[in-house]
Amino acid sequence: MKSLQSEIEQRGARIFELVDKHPDSLFSKAGFYQRMMELSMRDERFKVQMFRFVDVLPSLRNSDEIVKHLEEYFAGMRDGFAPAIQTGVRVARVVPRISGFILRRNVSGMARQFIAGKNCEDVMKTLRKRRAQKIGFTVDLLGEAVLSEKEADEYAARCLDLLECLARETRGWTDPLEENSELFPVVNLSVKTSALYSQMNPADPTDAIAHLAPKLLPILRGARELGAFINFDMESYADKNITLELFKTTFGEGEFKDWPRAGIVIQAYLRDAEGDLRDLIEWGRARGTRFAVRLVKGAYWDYETTKSLQNGWNCPVFSQKPQSDANFETLTRVLLENEPIVTAAFGSHNIRSIAHAQAVAGEIGIDPSRFEFQLLYGMAGPIKRALVEMGYRVREYCPVGELLPGMSYLVRRLLENTSNEGFLRAKFSENVSAEELLRDPNELIKRDGAAPWSGPLAPAAMEQPHRENDASLPGPSGDIYENSPLVNFVYKENQEKMRNALHEVRKRFGEKYPLVIGGEKVWTDQLTPSVNPSAPDEIVGYGSEAGIPEAERAVQAARAAFGKWSRTPFEERARLLERAADILERRRYELSAVEVFEAGKPWKEADADISEAIDFCRFYADQMRRLGRPKLTQQVPGEESYHHYWPRGVAFVIAPWNFPIAILCGMASAGVVTGNTVIMKPSEQSIVCGAMLMQVFEEAGVPPGVLNFLSGHGSVIGAHLVDHKDVDLIAFTGSREVGLKIWQSAGITRPGQRELKRVICEMGGKNAMIVDSDADLGEAINYSIYSAFGYQGQKCSALSRLILLEENYDRVMERLIPAAASLRVGNPEEPGIMVGPVIDEAAYRRILDYIEVGKSEATLAYQAKDLPPLGYFIPPTIFTDVKPNMRIAREEIFGPVLSVIKVRDLDEAIEVANGTDYALTGGFLSRSPANIERVKAQLEAGNVYINRSCTGAIVGRHPFGGFKMSGGGTKAGGEDYLLNFVVPRVVTENTSRHGLAPEQTPEYRDEFL
Ligand SMILES: Cc1cc2nc3c(=O)[nH]c(=O)nc-3n(C[C@H](O)[C@H](O)[C@H](O)COP(=O)(O)OP(=O)(O)OC[C@H]3O[C@@H](n4cnc5c(N)ncnc54)[C@H](O)[C@@H]3O)c2cc1C
Repeated sequence: MKSLQSEIEQRGARIFELVDKHPDSLFSKAGFYQRMMELSMRDERFKVQMFRFVDVLPSLRNSDEIVKHLEEYFAGMRDGFAPAIQTGVRVARVVPRISGFILRRNVSGMARQFIAGKNCEDVMKTLRKRRAQKIGFTVDLLGEAVLSEKEADEYAARCLDLLECLARETRGWTDPLEENSELFPVVNLSVKTSALYSQMNPADPTDAIAHLAPKLLPILRGARELGAFINFDMESYADKNITLELFKTTFGEGEFKDWPRAGIVIQAYLRDAEGDLRDLIEWGRARGTRFAVRLVKGAYWDYETTKSLQNGWNCPVFSQKPQSDANFETLTRVLLENEPIVTAAFGSHNIRSIAHAQAVAGEIGIDPSRFEFQLLYGMAGPIKRALVEMGYRVREYCPVGELLPGMSYLVRRLLENTSNEGFLRAKFSENVSAEELLRDPNELIKRDGAAPWSGPLAPAAMEQPHRENDASLPGPSGDIYENSPLVNFVYKENQEKMRNALHEVRKRFGEKYPLVIGGEKVWTDQLTPSVNPSAPDEIVGYGSEAGIPEAERAVQAARAAFGKWSRTPFEERARLLERAADILERRRYELSAVEVFEAGKPWKEADADISEAIDFCRFYADQMRRLGRPKLTQQVPGEESYHHYWPRGVAFVIAPWNFPIAILCGMASAGVVTGNTVIMKPSEQSIVCGAMLMQVFEEAGVPPGVLNFLSGHGSVIGAHLVDHKDVDLIAFTGSREVGLKIWQSAGITRPGQRELKRVICEMGGKNAMIVDSDADLGEAINYSIYSAFGYQGQKCSALSRLILLEENYDRVMERLIPAAASLRVGNPEEPGIMVGPVIDEAAYRRILDYIEVGKSEATLAYQAKDLPPLGYFIPPTIFTDVKPNMRIAREEIFGPVLSVIKVRDLDEAIEVANGTDYALTGGFLSRSPANIERVKAQLEAGNVYINRSCTGAIVGRHPFGGFKMSGGGTKAGGEDYLLNFVVPRVVTENTSRHGLAPEQTPEYRDEFL
């Protein structure tokens, strides 16, 4: 008996032979497309610019715009193929109309190579041709990411129309193989589940399925009536479990339980693909009705890899290409071995993968008419032809739609065709030998651990265009710090942990928490209740309320502890923070749950807060090690001068409720690690969170008096301690009103005061995002909605003013309002909620007052209805016709209220964005490199965000803090933050004796303790 490998080689050789009989380039269309692809494969930097240009082109409205972008993307390129491009750019400048037209036509041509038609009538021309070639079809409706339920409903309706049209137009068509045709209906529709529900949240599969199922029903009923087949495509990993679950619930029960014409995709590049496939097969067996699986490698490799790297997550996809190939083969066998229950479709252009499937089918004895090969429209034509010639069943995947929604699909195909590791490039562009291409992928897997980053769009490559010259820059120092990963709620196990934590924390409702002064628990007569803003009759806990006597006691305890703590080696202090970080990590679900109840934070936001607290501890510990050792100022014979830092003394930390653990922890840990002693006061609305943080530090072993916990009223103990002669430093985050009072009061020197008080003051913002005329509107709206309404608009970084260029205005508004209307508002105990309650009744009333102001000043364009009856829920609200001088455009509202301001052009947009008292965060959404550079240079904000949301700063990566009336210019989570907590000192010693001096003085010395 022949070995499988030799069978694969033989079959592969036959395919190659047939392919080579009809020589075809990789890119069947010659001309522009071919040249672009060749250049892209030669030069990674060109490729990035090229794909970005292709991405923006359909949204450009006139030739001048096209030429401007062409110039911005390519004019700066000085090397390699540049002369041709430079000439192109120069010509384009001279005759913009013609060049714009030609470019658009060429890119449309490129897209048409992969998009089979604009609509059903259009695609039928292709399908008829394929029928003549004995190739079947599956049609996929292209769509942009849906932002609203309106868009999702439209997609569902278009699917149904398409089905009906295809059925009508193909009436009388028969199966090309005329065998086992009942398994392969002629009409086959591929559906993207993410396009059917705009609020899909991986943490909440139940909600997603509850919304998806009713949208699918009419499509499925239509398909059943028309004898069609429905396939669920698979998209990003975040949606994978929901898609699988949806498939199983839809077809596992009810009216479609015995309907065999349903299929789903399994992506072999996923590490958990085999488990999913086996689970599906078990499910299918129990169901007792046939179903189908299309096996692919997966189209989102770059996205998944980048996203995991950014979030510090385990990467769900294999890192080495041969691993995906080998897994494809493993899964091929699983599918074919279970042929009696599952019909296999192999979606690959790789001749090795195809030949392997043929060989395994042959080995098991499965008739070729009982499975099929599926290939993409516009790709690998010769392979399709070869397979038909060999008597296999071939189906082509035909995307249908307009150019603009098709752009992300086009870019995925371009990536695939130019990928260094792709089969098509190797075979058709680089002419790699058949022998090499047919090798067993298992032999190619490197066994020495993870492969190095090898993606075609590595993050470094993506950044290149921003660099004017190629000089290599030293890595940023924050780079060495590894952030604590966020919990990935894609995993059921993590959802379970969070649910359990909520359950457990609920049992502790009503507990009382003491003050902690000098290491002792102190109870007072007065207790402050902390309520659940989603259900104000629930008391999360009670904090002991400190009065002046306790405040005095805390100052004394902190003062008393200062001497020893200030002389404790920094290494010991850093380790204390690291122990605290470990405890926070251990308790992260529990602490997140407390935040859900006490601060009304949605799951993801609560978890991000704990991550940030962990990061503050570890990052500041690292920074202290950098800062702690006295450093020689200059190498001078006979003299040594060491620059070093002393702590300032007693630090008073006043934190807000909106990041109830992170900000409190950040300020307190910075104080402690620098050798100060600290009194921390949590916000009155988040006492339980504060008490939890104190527990963490106590468990970590903070010495008595070094960290004191004082809950109580800001107006009483806060004011008292700010004015106190024995308080040397105040770290405050909160409102402008209180911040300015502190700033002023700290400027007064009181009798007996030793130090000039240092104030670290972070206040609010009136943050703006500008949407440029060429922005990707889907992304712009997504980011705007998240920035404005995420955590109910209660982040200091939240978007409050959306500045739209006149040109764009209608197009943005048309999608923005339905997107806001689709948001899930409710109790954040439920996993998929994005908008919960505001913090308390006072905030609730204040925000409602602002909404009234808005109604009198501007136009109420949208306000949500159907809010939960209890709790402090404010409807997401959007005002239009807002002028920059109106109150709602100038004053901080701190709630889910968005003002939209229309401007003439980018000049005016920047002027409006900068025209407030604040400078905290700002955003810009654009695909014009020149405009992006301009905004980077001119936007007045401590944190400027381009093409992303304007919230969500990460410690070390985005040091956070603003200027003007947003703060004193300090950066929490930045490498210079700790300097605010210390005083610099230089110690100089004459080391020469009669001219005899040591030859060298060490660069660093031990601390002066
Ligand atoms: C009919 C059809 C339907 C499809 N439907 C879907 C779908 O629903 N969902 C979906 O995601 N994709 C889908 N695809 C796209 C498909 O994922 C890609 O076309 C396919 O991955 C290319 O694989 P290949 O075997 O043709 O080429 P090959 O060149 O052999 O493989 C390329 C693939 O290998 C993987 N890869 C690349 N680099 C690495 C690396 N360093 N480490 C690990 N793996 C790597 C990637 O998946 C890449 O796409 C479909 C494809 C076809 C033909």
